[in-house]
Amino acid sequence: MENSNLSALDAYMNRVYRIIVIIIPVFCLCASTSITILHYVGWYPDINEAWMWAFDLSDVIYFAIGIYFLKTGFSEEGILYPHKLKVTKYTMAIILIIQWNDISYIWPFTDFWAYTNLFVMVMVFFFDVRLVAFSTVGFVASMLISWAIRPDMLLPYAGEYFYANMAFRFIGTVLMMFSLNVITYFGSHYLVEELEKHVNYDTLTHLLNRRSMDNYLNEAYRQASTGKTTFCLLMMDIDDFKRVNDTYGHDCGDEVLRSVAHIVSTGVKKDDSVFRWGGEEILVLLKTDLSRAEAAAERIRFDVAKDPIKYQEDIEVPVTITIGISPYVAGTTIKKMMEDADAKLYVGKHNGKNQVVSSLE
Ligand code: GH3
Ligand code: MG
Ligand code: MG
Repeated sequence: MENSNLSALDAYMNRVYRIIVIIIPVFCLCASTSITILHYVGWYPDINEAWMWAFDLSDVIYFAIGIYFLKTGFSEEGILYPHKLKVTKYTMAIILIIQWNDISYIWPFTDFWAYTNLFVMVMVFFFDVRLVAFSTVGFVASMLISWAIRPDMLLPYAGEYFYANMAFRFIGTVLMMFSLNVITYFGSHYLVEELEKHVNYDTLTHLLNRRSMDNYLNEAYRQASTGKTTFCLLMMDIDDFKRVNDTYGHDCGDEVLRSVAHIVSTGVKKDDSVFRWGGEEILVLLKTDLSRAEAAAERIRFDVAKDPIKYQEDIEVPVTITIGISPYVAGTTIKKMMEDADAKLYVGKHNGKNQVVSSLE
């Protein structure tokens, strides 16, 4: 089932996952089938048959593993489980390394070293720097070891071109591995991480967006349910913000919003999370009990009200916020806490604004 809530990045990873878990085992199967056929056709007669059949069997097993990953990787809503993605990536890399070694020894071929490039390249699709580095080390080590174990079959023929040939191998390997790792680095750093920011953060305020909020709230709730931790939700709304927009224009309103977001995010601890909940409503997840949350909220309210926000040198906009606090209590739900915080915010708005409300009495 496709989920309309998927980001472009999720959609890409889902597709790559589905393709890679099938393509790798299929290629492995093709390799072992070809070798088996070539052996019986008589093109490669001196092969260890027991080993060859074990190789065929291992490739059937890889295929089963691929199907298993395909069937179990996704939630009912079509979301790829992050832990599954990690396990799958490394399992596929290890399968490929084993496959490469199997072929090197079962069907020794002088130029097979050049295929390391192809084997690492498949992993680039995930744009995961560690995974590609892991594959690089695995294949280069396998290649060097295979040269040591089967120099008769895998090294260039001795003679006047031996060293020139070896130099080509080393330079070729270094250049190819370097390119693949650099492509992965650029892709992960400048494409994937950038996309992730757009997926999880709001572009105007740089606060976490509503989409990423659920994960944080559910995780805090899960931890609190064990009884070991607690948390509070702070719902804040800028007072008379429409008037800021009407008086100074929308750009100024945006600037005020950014400044308030900055004051709020610098006013909480590293463990806490700040979300842009609505237009000019900010939700804060504080990992503390009610009395500390009240103190933090009061401090944030004070910091916002303290100085007017400057816009374009000459404009000074006085800004205040109202905050409703909802503490976690056993048996509540995130939804109830949000409603509770909202109700308290509403009370504050009707009692003169610029205040913190933590109780409905
Ligand atoms: P109150 O004190 O009751 O909160 O009054 P208010 O005027 O702030 O009322 P409300 O919270 O309902 O106003 C929300 C306004 O915020 C409406 C909308 O024009 C403005 N707004 C929402 N998002 C943005 C934004 O991204 N930029 C700007 N400039 N304004 C926004
Ligand atoms: Mg408002
Ligand atoms: Mg509002």
